Parts: sequence; C-alpha cells; structure tokens
Amino acid sequence: MKLRFDPIFSKELSADPIDGNQRRQVSDASFSWVTPRVPSKPKLVHASKEVAQLLGLREEDLESEEFLAVFSGGRLAEGSKPYAMAYGGHQFGTWAGQLGDGRAINLGEVVANKKHWALQLKGSGETPYSRNADGFAVLRSSIREHLCSEAMFALGVPTTRSLSLMLTGDEVLRDVLYNGNSAMEPGAVVCRVSESFVRFGNFQLLAARNSVEELEKLTKHVIHHFYPDCQREKFEDAVVAFFEAVCQRTIDLIVEWQRVGFVHGVMNTDNMSILGQTIDYGPYGWVDDYDQNWTPNTTDRSQKRYRFGNQAYIANWNLLQLANALYPLVKEAQPFEDALKSFRPKHHSAYLNMMRAKLGLKNEKDEDEDLILRLEHCFSLSACDMSIFFRELCSLNWSETAVLPQVKMAFYDWEEIQGEVEEEWSTWFADYRNRCSEEEAENHVRQEGMKKINPKYVLRNYMAQMAIEAAEKGDFSLIHELYTLLLAPYDEQVSMEKWYAKRPDWAKNKVGASMLSCSS
Ligand code: AMP
Ligand code: MG
Repeated sequence: MKLRFDPIFSKELSADPIDGNQRRQVSDASFSWVTPRVPSKPKLVHASKEVAQLLGLREEDLESEEFLAVFSGGRLAEGSKPYAMAYGGHQFGTWAGQLGDGRAINLGEVVANKKHWALQLKGSGETPYSRNADGFAVLRSSIREHLCSEAMFALGVPTTRSLSLMLTGDEVLRDVLYNGNSAMEPGAVVCRVSESFVRFGNFQLLAARNSVEELEKLTKHVIHHFYPDCQREKFEDAVVAFFEAVCQRTIDLIVEWQRVGFVHGVMNTDNMSILGQTIDYGPYGWVDDYDQNWTPNTTDRSQKRYRFGNQAYIANWNLLQLANALYPLVKEAQPFEDALKSFRPKHHSAYLNMMRAKLGLKNEKDEDEDLILRLEHCFSLSACDMSIFFRELCSLNWSETAVLPQVKMAFYDWEEIQGEVEEEWSTWFADYRNRCSEEEAENHVRQEGMKKINPKYVLRNYMAQMAIEAAEKGDFSLIHELYTLLLAPYDEQVSMEKWYAKRPDWAKNKVGASMLSCSS
C-alpha cells in the first residue's frame, strides 16, 4: 500500500508546544500533535473503492493487513504525523469556547492524482480537545457517517468522503437518549477524507483569543490552497473576496440539501466546513414527508433551531459569526455587511432555480415563484413523501386526464386527499401542466432530465437503522447492499425497487430512525 504523505496544514500553521493527548486549553496554535489509540481487535466492516482510488490505492490494498492497521489507528504509515485541530464554535447559538477535534485525529495529507487529501480518523480516542468525553465513536453513528458521506457524494452534494469503516474491538459506554440508560456499544473508526477539514470554528477560536497572527496564517493557508481565485494584491481585499466565496459555497450547499431533503441536524459553527461541504454526520436525517418544521435531532426538539426549513437562515447566521472572526484582518465592517446582506436574495434565487429544475422547467417565468410557493403550501396540507413525489413527476402522463392519482404512491394517507385539499392539489397540477406546455423541450426529454435531479434512492433514516441493527448482530450485508444502491441514486435499479418506498409505519417514531440524539 503506497501513500505519499506531504503535510500542508501542520507545516504551514503553528503547533501547540505541548505534546500528548491529555486534555487542555490550547492557545496561539492551530493544532496539537497527538497519537491515535491502538484498537484491541480491529476488523474491517466496509471500505470504499471509489475513495481508495482517489487516494491512489489499489483494490487489493483494501484487503491488506497494512490497510487494517493504518486506518484503524493501530499503526502509523510512513510520513504520517498525526495531529488534532483546534477550533471553537457557537453551539445552538451560544459561544462554547474551545471545542476542537475531540475524537478526530488527522493522519496528515497525502498527495494523489495531483491533489492533497487530508485523512482523518474519527473515533481514535482522547485528544487535548476531548473535554469531558472519551474520544471514541460507536458503530451505529459510524455506519451512518460512512454510508451517508458516500451517498451524498453520489447525489452530487458537496461532502467530506469516507474511506473505511472499522470495528475497533473495544466497547464504548453510551446513553443514547441521555435518560440514564447507559449501555456498552461496539466502538468503531471511520477514515474521513477531504481536501481540508477546516471549519468556521477554526477562525473563530483564533479570533476569540486575539491570536491575529495565527488567524492571518490560517486565512492565507486556506486561500492559497482552496480559494486561489480570491488572491488579491492587498491581503484585506483577498479576505473579503474569500468571505464572499465562502458565502456563495454555503448557499450552494444549503440549496443542495433542500434539493435532496437533507437535514443536517447540528449546524453549529464548528460543524460548518470552510469549503462548503457537508461535514460531521451526527443526528442528520432525510425528510420523508415534506415538512419544513422537521428535525431529526431530539436534542433540538423544543427549539427546532436546525429544522429543515431553517437551514438557510442558520447558514446566514453562521456566516455572520465567520465575518466577526475575519474582521480583525480587514478592520472594516462594510464589505462583510454587504456580503451578508446579499445572502438572502442570492439564496432565494438559487432556491427557485433549483426548484424549477426539479420541476423540469428550463425557461425562467415570473409565475414560477408562485407555482413553487403553492406547491410548498400543498405539501403543508398533506403528508406527502418528498423524494417519491418528485420522482413520480418524472413519469407523469399528461395525456391522461386524472393526473393527481398518478402520484398517489407519494401520499402517506391517500384517503385524506379529499375536498379542499384535493382541490388545491388538482389546481396546482393543472397550473403545472400549463406551465410545462410553455417549455420547448418535449415532455419525455424534459422528464429524462428531471431524473438526473430528483433521486430515486436516498438513505432514508429507517434504511440506515436497519443496516445498524443487522450490523450490531454481526451481519454487514445490508451495509454493502445500501452502499451499492446509493452509488447510483438516480438510476432505476429495478432489482432494488423495494428501497423505493415510503417510510414504513414502524419507523415513524422510532429511536434511530426518526429520533436521533447527539450521542454518538
Ligand atoms: P459535534 O457537535 O458532535 O460535532 O461535536 C462537538 C464537539 O464535541 C467537537 O469538539 C467534538 O470533537 C466533540 N466530541 C463529540 N463527541 C465526542 C467524543 N465522544 N469524545 C470527545 N469529543 C467529542
Ligand atoms: Mg462536530
């Protein structure tokens, strides 16, 4: 197995002068040198061939003893100098001070295919940033992270990737619902891969501690490697251009989440990637019935701060915190305020374009906004499955007079669609039909295009839960099946039709399937 390590983050930024994994406050530094904990009996559950290829690994490497040792944290590969990053963040709207990689350990960056890739083990034990937790991860949350990272990538949503999922052979104590019922669970390690794991919180912590020199170094590092187009003669101008670009990438990300029905669940500023990727798969979920108020995260049940329909607002709020952190480098508020002010109109227009695409409408018409808002209103009247609804739209037959019954499969209670509710839906379909007739492309051509935007298969919460329950009994076959299914989410995959189904009743209010906590 050949991995060519060429550190960039730890080379260009300042190290904590104290070595070792013991917990502490770290100032004027961007990371601490640490050592991953050696697992007692590692076992490979699943590895991604696609990510391996990205890193220049061969398929046979995935079966090797070396792969198992390196990606479970048991052995350091040549050239790997592991570190944990320092970052802070606003958790649920409140400044939380130092957070950092409490259970993630970076192995370093490798060069492959002319690119640098940062490799990070999640669940490899205590670091200086572990606060009062143990640094481990359990199998259930690791399955969710591994499968969802790759499913999101296949959907075309920006995301960190996942190379491997391994059992450590060690047990970890967890209280899933924080109600005093702790139990031992199997420990696991996932190897995440991204160009960079820098978050909004990395900037925030340095700014909060007034480490302006290090803040400047971090900003230069990120612009140089990941936002080269933002370089300007004056550094202040580069910082502003960089901030504007982060705003744009964040808007694009949120619109992508809206397109596929993804709810992150914990959009704290420490969980916001500076690259605009989906990062930190915790109590995330997929809307089954299209409900703007839904959140999978039980920890957020009362406030619903991170509900489906609030993600753009929160992204905007988080960007304001990033602007505050970057301010000392520019010392002028106006350019940040301008960028923040343009967030809403930019997001709104990107959202409308995305919805137009989902509906198969190419030309922009004034009445589209009303059509889209009225569709949202219809969704609020009935429990209607988002993914199935849009996928069924891709094969509507307009020559039949009754159109609404053609999407019957998407409704959780078809009997409910009566009277005024039925009228609203039928009116919407009539208007949609008229609107489609104004498009140049023929129906079947339009509908083929829609199938590339409206996925047939997403990692519904209950599917991940089924894979977890089987895996906890030692059967990993469902992990493999779902992984393969979700590699091609837009394809028909006739033999996999059973996964094209609404959430089953048993999963509606089940822990793990619709209720998730931050315990992971
Ligand atoms: P999260 O919101 O789950 O992404 O995590 C918030 C903070 O808690 C981050 O600094 C994590 O590294 C840390 N954290 C979460 N779980 C653990 C754990 N089991 N052990 C140590 N730190 C953790
Ligand atoms: Mg996090």
